[in-house]
Amino acid sequence: MPTPKLTLASEVKYLKGVGPARAEILASRGIRTVEDLLYYAPFRYEDRTRLTPIRDLIPGQTTTVLANVLACGLLRTRRGLHIYDLGATDSSGMLRCKWFHALYLERQKVFRPGQRVFFYGKVELDPFGSGNLQMVQPQFEILTESEATGKDSLEVGRVVPIYESLGKLGPRILRRLMATALAWLDGAIPDRLPQSVRHKNRLLDRPTALRETHFPGQEQRLEDLLRFRSPAQVRLIFEEFFNVSAGLVLKRRKAKASPGVEFRVTASVRESIKQILPFHPTAAQKRVLKEIADDMCSPRPMNRLLQGDVGSGKTIVAIQAAILALENGYQVALMAPTEILATQHYLYIKNLLRPLPYGVELLISGRKAAEKAELKRRIAEGNVHFVVGTHALIEEDVKFARLGLVVVDEQHRFGVMQRYRLIRKGVPPDVLVMTATPIPRTLALTLYGDLDFSVIDELPPGRTPIETRLFDERERERAFDFVREKVKRGGQAYVVYPVIEESGKLDLRPAVRMYEHLARVAFPEFSVGLLHGRLPSEEKESVMQRFKQGEIRVLVSTTVIEVGMDVPNATVMVVEHAERFGLAQLHQLRGRVGRGSGKSYCLALAAGPRNEVSEERLRTFVETTDGFRIAEVDLKLRGPGEFFGTRQWGIPGFHFANLLRDQEILEWARAEGTEFVERPGSAAELDAFMVYLRAEWPRRYRLAGVA
Ligand code: ADP
Ligand code: MG
Repeated sequence: MPTPKLTLASEVKYLKGVGPARAEILASRGIRTVEDLLYYAPFRYEDRTRLTPIRDLIPGQTTTVLANVLACGLLRTRRGLHIYDLGATDSSGMLRCKWFHALYLERQKVFRPGQRVFFYGKVELDPFGSGNLQMVQPQFEILTESEATGKDSLEVGRVVPIYESLGKLGPRILRRLMATALAWLDGAIPDRLPQSVRHKNRLLDRPTALRETHFPGQEQRLEDLLRFRSPAQVRLIFEEFFNVSAGLVLKRRKAKASPGVEFRVTASVRESIKQILPFHPTAAQKRVLKEIADDMCSPRPMNRLLQGDVGSGKTIVAIQAAILALENGYQVALMAPTEILATQHYLYIKNLLRPLPYGVELLISGRKAAEKAELKRRIAEGNVHFVVGTHALIEEDVKFARLGLVVVDEQHRFGVMQRYRLIRKGVPPDVLVMTATPIPRTLALTLYGDLDFSVIDELPPGRTPIETRLFDERERERAFDFVREKVKRGGQAYVVYPVIEESGKLDLRPAVRMYEHLARVAFPEFSVGLLHGRLPSEEKESVMQRFKQGEIRVLVSTTVIEVGMDVPNATVMVVEHAERFGLAQLHQLRGRVGRGSGKSYCLALAAGPRNEVSEERLRTFVETTDGFRIAEVDLKLRGPGEFFGTRQWGIPGFHFANLLRDQEILEWARAEGTEFVERPGSAAELDAFMVYLRAEWPRRYRLAGVA
């Protein structure tokens, strides 16, 4: 009996058919409420409406057959295997069905002669029966008398939704749960999409959309469903994109309305910048600096993303922005994702700012506790002006006296949450987020919809494109000969490994062992260094310094150098096991060379055999150095969820929407989201929507609060 009190917010365990075990499986996949359940979308549909007579079946075809059971029973093979064997017939022919290990079919007396049953599966020739057709392990649904027409069946006789199994919960069970939930809710599904938006865009209402997505009615076209473009699916995809887009617009509006630091570009700012600039900025660098400075000089907080391909020169732009803040009497924090990158920024900035009267310090976890405590005290007193650090910077006890600007380098490695934790330290400082990963437009719209954008679309002068060559692993010595040649002529080289320790399972050459080999055997004439994440901080720092100064000629390293290492004299990179790296990561790695005017090379060593995906990755890597092209292929190959690696929590968890497949709906929903926030149907409509978003935002979309 339907329970009248069931709502979308009800826990899924109250649903008929969900016991503790199933509730636990569902919970482990984030499905706790009835609403969560209904937002678990079918990934495909099967048309089981058109039934083929047995006579017309073609081996190899996957289809639905409606037939009467003739005879059935358990067979035991000589090897002791139990096979449940069933013969069925329609008016045109005979079909055998087999289930292995299916004792339960016998025990529970599932089948009886005379039953009318839908079988769904792949048609095969019966290897033992002369020319007979069979289905192995077909899905089936036994019809009750009243169901003889098949109209009420969830399994067959209709377009059937197919769900990805959740642990032991296969599509059949999920279908039943969905149907139960929809029946019990009986249309009591409030629509959160503002009515004015729904009307204007002619979108289906939510209860209909959910019902028709799970159990499409006859009027829905299968082609549309398979392309996720049925009116019901479109409505649900739109809804998700709309919520995220409108939410980001609201967040941004709120941020813009709050007071921020109002910096001023004075003569002394100009003078200081002139004093420290090591080169002439490119036109692109000048343009983005102006955008940033204009933002910083406005009375509102800045939230800006600075995007520029690897090596495009973002650092100096950030430093100029920092000087604007420093000259106005504010502190600056620069956060980097790794100790190595933080350390490098620190050394570079400290050196560059030497002519100016500002204290630059490094705050990383690797430093001694007493030193850190002392440093934090000085930061709180305002006696350190420019703090460079890692995530140690966002630890709760770091307090700034007068934080005016936060620069976050290589944003793709930080969750959005972390970004906001740092920002909450002061009275809202200006924030500049830098990323070297060129983000495809679709992702940028959703991930950074609350930020303003600046793009450096030009490389510093004198760069020649990096030449990338693919080598088979077995040609390693040839690659090393090439390296030797370049290093002899004064260059420096990186040799990068995917892991540092020997691992029994993976056939990876451990960096440590290889380092020894390179140092003793391959390049005895050069000084070879080793850098990896587990070295003590001081040692990392010293290795980097020695490589920078040219004392170390060949640096064996793990991916710790992936971001930020800046040694223009290094012109050769060897990437071992290139087939194991993601495309974006390869591109990042490669960005460590080609940073000066010397022609640079990247030698990718790859082991075979390779699958299609890794083949396409490597092909793209060799073919292009265009970061946007690389990002796009990478996104396509990996999907949005993995695009930034597992640590990225900034990507909203969409249920129906897919960032790759649904770009045009995203753009549409985003335009509507912006429009709605600017001109809602009524103030009450906007209020109601905001209340809803505040409640749903963190839970459903995994995004930080609608500020
Ligand atoms: P990224 O954008 O990858 O962080 P960096 O800021 O590290 O790039 O700059 C890459 C290299 O280019 C550095 O060695 C930097 O000193 C140099 N560089 C940056 N801008 C210019 C410029 N306008 N002229 C010459 N060299 C530059
Ligand atoms: Mg950088």
